[in-house]
Amino acid sequence: MIMIDNPFDSAMKQLDKAAGIMNLPADIHTILKSPDRVISFSIPVKMDNGELKVFQGVRCQYNNALGVYKGGIRYHPDVSVDEMKALAFWMMIKCAVVGIPMGGSKGGVAVNPKEMSAAELEKLSRGYVRKIWRLIGSDKDVPAPDVYTTPVIMAYMRSEYEKITGQSDPGVITGKPISEGGSAARDYATAQGGVYVVEELCKKLGWGASQIKIAIQGFGNAGSHIARILRGLGYKIVAVSDSAGGVYDETGLDTVKIEQIKKTGGRVSDYGGRLVSNQEILELDADIIIPAALENVITADNADRIKARAVVELANGPTTPAAEKILREKGVIVAPDVLANAGGVTVSYFEWDQNVKGERWSEAAVLEKLAKTMKTAFDKAWAVKEKQKTDLRTAAFITALARIAEKIKII
Ligand code: NAD
Repeated sequence: MIMIDNPFDSAMKQLDKAAGIMNLPADIHTILKSPDRVISFSIPVKMDNGELKVFQGVRCQYNNALGVYKGGIRYHPDVSVDEMKALAFWMMIKCAVVGIPMGGSKGGVAVNPKEMSAAELEKLSRGYVRKIWRLIGSDKDVPAPDVYTTPVIMAYMRSEYEKITGQSDPGVITGKPISEGGSAARDYATAQGGVYVVEELCKKLGWGASQIKIAIQGFGNAGSHIARILRGLGYKIVAVSDSAGGVYDETGLDTVKIEQIKKTGGRVSDYGGRLVSNQEILELDADIIIPAALENVITADNADRIKARAVVELANGPTTPAAEKILREKGVIVAPDVLANAGGVTVSYFEWDQNVKGERWSEAAVLEKLAKTMKTAFDKAWAVKEKQKTDLRTAAFITALARIAEKIKII
C-alpha cells in the first residue's frame, strides 16, 4: 500500500527543522503549529438539471502577524482541511520570504469543476462567499485564484461580496480580470517569479540557458506561462504534461503549439510524439524539473529515480521532507515553493495595494517591482543557506520565521 504524506505533517516537519537551526523561541514555535482559524461549511447548489447538490468548502486563516490574511481558493476533488492548513501555513511563510506585509490563509471546495457548467460554477463561487463574507475583506483576508479557479471566478466572488456588504471593495480579492481592478502581469506573475528564480539559480551554478533542458509537470496557469517564458529565454523545454499525461522530445517542444491545443479544449498529449505519464515526467533526463500541478509528487518512492540536478517548485508542496532528504544526499538542489512560486502572491499584493490606494500601475512598473522583490528574496535565502550550511528551503523558512516572530505578540 502506498502511504500518502499528509501535507500538514510535511509543513510541520519543515517548521521544526528551521526552528531547531535558528533557535526559534519555544512559544513562537508552539503558536505557529496551529492556524488561527479553520472553518468548514456546506454550499448548496441547484444544478442545471434541477438536482440540489451540497459541496464542502473550507477556509483556513493561519496567521496575520505581518498583515491581512492572504491566500488562494482551490477547486479540486481532493481538497481537505489538512491540505488547506498546509497551504495556508506555506502562504504565511511565503509572504514573509518575499517581505510583503501579509499573513497566510487558503481555501477550497472539494469539487471537480470540469464536471460543472459555467452557470453552476458561478452559483458555487457566489455560495462560497455567502458562507465566509464576514471573515474576508481588503482589511481582513484577501483570497485569490489557485488550482482550477480563474479571474472570472474571482470577479463573481467580488461581486457577491459587494452585493452582501453594499460597499465597493475591489481589494477584497486579487487575480481579478484587469477590467475589474486586476493588476497588469497578475496572470503570469507566478511563472514570471519562478523564471527569476531559475535565472538566479543558473547564475549561481554557472549554467547557461541554451545548455539547460527542462521538464514541467502541469500546464495550467503556472506551468504554461513558465514554459513560454523560459523557452523565449533560450531554455529547452523537453517535456510538459497536464492531468491526462505529457509529451517528451529531447530536442525541445513547440510549447506555443501546445498552448494552442489547450486553448481549443485539447490535451497536452494531442501534440503527439513520445507520450509520458505524470510520474515519468519527473524522472526524465532533464537538468531542471518544475512540478507545477499538485503537492506530494516527489516522495520517498521516486526521489531516487530523479535525474535532474535541480527542482524548481512552482506547485505548492510537491516534495515531501523524506524525498527532500534523498535529493539533498544526491546533490539535487531544490528551489522551494515558498520562494519559487512567490511571484503570484507578490503581484497579488501589488494588486491589493493598487486597489486600496485607487491606483493603476503599468505592466513595466509591476515587472520591475516583481523582479526586485524576487531577486532580493533569492539572494537573502541563498546567503542564509551558505551561512547555516543548510538547504534553500530551510534557509527561506529561517528568514521568514525571523520576520514573523518579531511581530507576534504574546499576551
Ligand atoms: P491550474 O488549475 O491553472 O493548472 C493546474 C494544472 O495541473 C493543469 O494543467 C492540470 O491539468 C494539471 N494537473 C491536475 N491534476 C494533475 C495531476 N494529478 N498530475 C499532473 N498534473 C495535474 O493551476 P495553477 O494555478 O497553475 O496551480 C498549479 C500549482 O501552482 C498549484 O500547486 C498551485 O497551488 C501553485 N500556485 C499557483 C499560483 C497561481 O498564481 N496560480 C501561485 C502559487 C502557487
